[in-house]
Amino acid sequence: METHNGSLYWPSTYPDRGPRSVPERLAFYDVIIVGGGISGSLSALALVEAGLSVAILDKRQMATGSTMANTGLLQYSNDIMLHELINQIGKKDAVRFYRSCYNAVGKLGKLTKQLPFSSDFVERPSICYASTEADVEKLKMEYEVLQKYGFPCDYWNTSDISHHMPFEKPGALVTYRDAEVNPYKLVHGVLDVAEEKGAHIFEFIEVDDVITEDDVISIRTSAGEFRANQVVYTTGYEPVPIGNRIGAEINRSYAIATKPIKEFTKWHKQSLIWETARPYLYLRTTADNRIIAGGLDQNISHAPKSQELIDMHAKELLLKLKELFPDYLIEIDFSYGAIFGESLDNIPFIGQHPTKEQHYYLLGYGGNGTVYSMLGSQILRGLIMDGYHQDADLVQLNRKYGVK
Ligand SMILES: Cc1cc2nc3c(=O)[nH]c(=O)nc-3n(C[C@H](O)[C@H](O)[C@H](O)COP(=O)(O)OP(=O)(O)OC[C@H]3O[C@@H](n4cnc5c(N)ncnc54)[C@H](O)[C@@H]3O)c2cc1C
Repeated sequence: METHNGSLYWPSTYPDRGPRSVPERLAFYDVIIVGGGISGSLSALALVEAGLSVAILDKRQMATGSTMANTGLLQYSNDIMLHELINQIGKKDAVRFYRSCYNAVGKLGKLTKQLPFSSDFVERPSICYASTEADVEKLKMEYEVLQKYGFPCDYWNTSDISHHMPFEKPGALVTYRDAEVNPYKLVHGVLDVAEEKGAHIFEFIEVDDVITEDDVISIRTSAGEFRANQVVYTTGYEPVPIGNRIGAEINRSYAIATKPIKEFTKWHKQSLIWETARPYLYLRTTADNRIIAGGLDQNISHAPKSQELIDMHAKELLLKLKELFPDYLIEIDFSYGAIFGESLDNIPFIGQHPTKEQHYYLLGYGGNGTVYSMLGSQILRGLIMDGYHQDADLVQLNRKYGVK
């Protein structure tokens, strides 16, 4: 299954990253992680730091699944607004979920400072503008609820927006303490640290089946058998070798990275930008002064195959950018289409399988996938080491739209 097609920007920022050297395989691991993207790498680090012997297997080179297509916006707000989530799961849990996401952005920031090279993490505000007049009330309500529970934010009216940005919109919610990152460099940095601390990293090994024999997990792969006490699935949007995702939708999204822009005139603090429309347009700037923009999501569960189709959507994204920033000289440099997973209840799938005790999952479906990966790695560490994590109940698999 292809997770993306087209020309991706992030590998060009770190071109020297070749395949990793193959470690000497142990006869038995405490934990084997299937999938070497952002979820797998953060889980490997969390578990190896807890003192476990850990191997991470990927059928591709590390970080070349959906992680490489990730546009790298890190936000505490989710695809579902806090006031909507309160209606869905109640005040206490919804606020706790938002608080966990907020903390996860901070933890990612702290972690990037410990990596051997920069992953271009920069704290940014986010501007979520009302796509139509009708959405203004919704944004104002969200602003009040976020304020009430202590999340840093502002509300901008039309004149505030045109004062800070080169476009006019009927209203905007501005959230603070969000960030941007280069997800490709982030994963490689995290894996380097995990490897240094003892994690074994195996690329180009596909997991075909997982069998439990006398409480030992036997992992059948394209390179023979691996044995472990526990297995963690961090396979992204591709089918999990064991278990069924219930209530997960796989869609498709498009993204472009522009050529470097001379100056981001009147782009307030190079904020992350998104909107209330669904599907939404999302954009940010990069360390080398490009704009990355994504959106135009479609209800199609495979990556676009033809470059012509990708180009067509890239041009549409370019037009949207030019509408927002009419004075910038904007040209496309990279363009791609990718699959993108969402859960029907807007909550990621993180935790222990309801009946198979030695099987754990971290599937961070939703626009906030990287934040869920960080949150998930902490939850899995708690569950595997102590059988408990304070936030595990929020994202557990044993729910209507969980993993069976
Ligand atoms: C266009 C686009 C833009 C996005 N923008 C953002 C954003 O701005 N912010 C954000 O937070 N999130 C964003 N996301 C979501 C984000 O990309 C994902 O949440 C994240 O990449 C998921 O990481 P992962 O490690 O779970 O999955 P992946 O990176 O896909 O890693 C899973 C790995 O598992 C491996 N694998 C699968 N099956 C097997 C098997 N059987 N055996 C061995 N290996 C296997 C794959 O090869 C792959 O490398 C975006 C996604 C897309 C598509």
